Amino acid sequence: MACDHVVLAAGAWSRLFLARHGITIPQLAVLASVAATEPMAEVFPGNAADDDFAFRRRADGGYSIAPGGSQHDFFIGPDAFRSFRAFWPVVRQDLRATTFRAAAPKGFPDAWTTPRRWSEDEASPFEATRILNPAPNLRTLAKVQDAFARAFPGLGRPKLKAAWAGMIDTMPDVVPIVDHAPLPGLTIATGLSGHGFGIGPGMGRVVADLVTGGHVGHDLNRFRFARFTDGTKIAPGPSL
Ligand SMILES: Cc1cc2nc3c(=O)[nH]c(=O)nc-3n(C[C@H](O)[C@H](O)[C@H](O)COP(=O)(O)OP(=O)(O)OC[C@H]3O[C@@H](n4cnc5c(N)ncnc54)[C@H](O)[C@@H]3O)c2cc1C
Repeated sequence: MACDHVVLAAGAWSRLFLARHGITIPQLAVLASVAATEPMAEVFPGNAADDDFAFRRRADGGYSIAPGGSQHDFFIGPDAFRSFRAFWPVVRQDLRATTFRAAAPKGFPDAWTTPRRWSEDEASPFEATRILNPAPNLRTLAKVQDAFARAFPGLGRPKLKAAWAGMIDTMPDVVPIVDHAPLPGLTIATGLSGHGFGIGPGMGRVVADLVTGGHVGHDLNRFRFARFTDGTKIAPGPSL
């Protein structure tokens, strides 16, 4: 072994990675779509959101726009069935927020054909798909364009100059796991559940302290791995 300690921080790939080592976490991922508009007059220099859409003024004179609330697509795969019961409390809070799709693109973590086991001399799923880069949901983005036009009738319906999407990894309580794994030398830092840009810097420091034996300075009980195995009632985080 080349090192004493490993940190698993593989985003939406974490569940697949851990499962091969006999560790199960109830992590799934949703697709979030975003677009950039052509340049338009400035109505507000910052960013704002309501239930229908979110926008941020861009330096190129357009806006980045995205669905409001937490509108997303969910690809159904084997792990979705395994974790249905765990995720139901959070899914049912707003069923309309989810567009269910029958299968993930080939090579995605929970695609029907993605191998769950592979030997050391085989290419792993992570090597087969180096970057998760799903196509955006243009129908969802069309609704965002409509909502933007309703909110700012003087500007008209924005034209898109680019659109993209990403997979957001999430846990049933929408709270990450930051803890030592039940496998010596392994620490898990995953399930950032759509908050990873915001809490990433703090998360990095906490994980570094956790691994090096430093003083973490925070109560990590809420983030413990065992909450999914010790009978704790899993409830979506307090702000949901
Ligand atoms: C469209 C969109 C909008 C978002 N908006 C916000 C926002 O406004 N605010 C916010 O806080 N968060 C936001 N997020 C969420 C944020 O991006 C994530 O929470 C964050 O990126 C998660 O960080 P991470 O380090 O856990 O995982 P990731 O950023 O996914 O990083 C995991 C890395 O591990 C690599 N990896 C995976 N498997 C392996 C392997 N076997 N070997 C080596 N490397 C591997 C991957 O390639 C990847 O680079 C958004 C996400 C999306 C998609």
